[in-house]
Amino acid sequence: MDLGIAGRKALVCAASKGLGRACADSLAEAGVEVTICARTRADVEATAREIGTARGIAVTALACDITTPEGREAALAAAGDIDILVNNAGGPPPGDFRDWSRQDWIAALDANMITAIELIGSTVDAMMERGFGRIVNITSGSVKSPISILGLSNGARTGLTGFCAGIARDTVRRGVTINGLLPGPFDTDRLRGNLVVRAKAAGMSYEEMYEAASAENPAGRFGTAEEFGKTCAFLCSVHAGYINGQNLLMDGGAFRSSI
Ligand code: NAP
Repeated sequence: MDLGIAGRKALVCAASKGLGRACADSLAEAGVEVTICARTRADVEATAREIGTARGIAVTALACDITTPEGREAALAAAGDIDILVNNAGGPPPGDFRDWSRQDWIAALDANMITAIELIGSTVDAMMERGFGRIVNITSGSVKSPISILGLSNGARTGLTGFCAGIARDTVRRGVTINGLLPGPFDTDRLRGNLVVRAKAAGMSYEEMYEAASAENPAGRFGTAEEFGKTCAFLCSVHAGYINGQNLLMDGGAFRSSI
């Protein structure tokens, strides 16, 4: 399927690895001029080179922390007049809410709520003026089905979701859709790192824990970053102009509900 977005410009945040990288790769495959950022220069530059070579299109790399004002300014300057914004950042640490200080909450809100809101604020008016825009927020399945030890994530991401639910109804008339893409368990570095910790706590080998955790899902496996990236690219396509203000859960059916 031709996604109809060749020649468009995108900024994909936190994209040297994992889900962000896969979104950048699928957009580049569709002919989009992509700028990616991440904090580790060597990784983000290597990823840009790899995607660029594989897809035959120049990919711009920027080393920055997207959760800081300077990082966002640099990312927007590198990406230019973007038509597509994929918001992403590392998730906050798990823990017990009794241990979290105000500062912990501010850091989580900065990373997983305010960063995305500020990037939307800096780009959405120009997208509306041009009559086309796609904004996808990578959040988490925990927005629909919260996990108690991920309270910082649940709170910050739900705040972003609520904010976007409101403004999406104002932007779509001028061609700009805003949607959330909610990952369940995807086989990325982040998930593998969590499994190492869980395996140690349970006295299991990593392989045993991987097997057991993936078997818990109705699909009997974890999601792949490629599946996630392709779905993101579809949400950014011309065909998805009437999908707006939605939160698409990709979890293999783990969240049990009829609709
Ligand atoms: P990942 O494989 O660990 O990749 C994270 C990427 O984000 C890396 O490229 C990392 O590079 C970059 N990054 C992290 N913090 C950044 C910052 N402050 N500024 C710029 N770049 C930053 O993680 P992932 O699995 O793709 O997860 C992506 C998001 O989805 C996270 O918010 C995660 O909580 C959420 N999520 C993931 C899953 C899952 O199963 N994978 C499930 C639910 C939710 P640097 O470290 O070099 O900056």
